[in-house]
Amino acid sequence: MELVEVRVRDCACPGSPHAEGDTVSLLPQLSIEGGAAAELDLVEVMNAAKEGDSREASYAKLLVRWTATFVRYGAVAWNWLQTGKDGPEPVPFDVEVLVNDYSLARLVAGRANDLYQKAALDPLLEAAAPNRQQRRSRRTSTGTARSRTRGKTRTPRASSSEPGSDGPPLRIAR
Ligand SMILES: [Zn+2]
Repeated sequence: MELVEVRVRDCACPGSPHAEGDTVSLLPQLSIEGGAAAELDLVEVMNAAKEGDSREASYAKLLVRWTATFVRYGAVAWNWLQTGKDGPEPVPFDVEVLVNDYSLARLVAGRANDLYQKAALDPLLEAAAPNRQQRRSRRTSTGTARSRTRGKTRTPRASSSEPGSDGPPLRIAR
């Protein structure tokens, strides 16, 4: 897996060995932890929206949260060195250092948004697609997502309340 390097500052290491500057490395795609955290951000922002935030405010809030989430879960390494007993040694990676320093995190965040935002948005856009919405609301009237999954392990329900023609295609689509 090729990491994506982002330059964050002029080399600040002992002896300034990095002519290209100090870098932070990002995962090339959103991890499952990062995706789950992004979904949690979305849920929290949507709950705040119910309490009166405007659409624009909600969107701005979501982007801010996602930026922090993307840095926290996307940044995994850096090339920084420090002076050790036997000369320069790697600085142990600590994502908190990045998250707590806007001047460093800003550049990482920009690249992380490029890399991950689409993956984080996709579930949202899928859920918002009109035909999906319709299917989902129809299905939820017969049970929750979890009970639906359990239902799959049984033989097809003969007593389904859904129109017969609607059942099989939906199963295939999922
Ligand atoms: Zn350096």
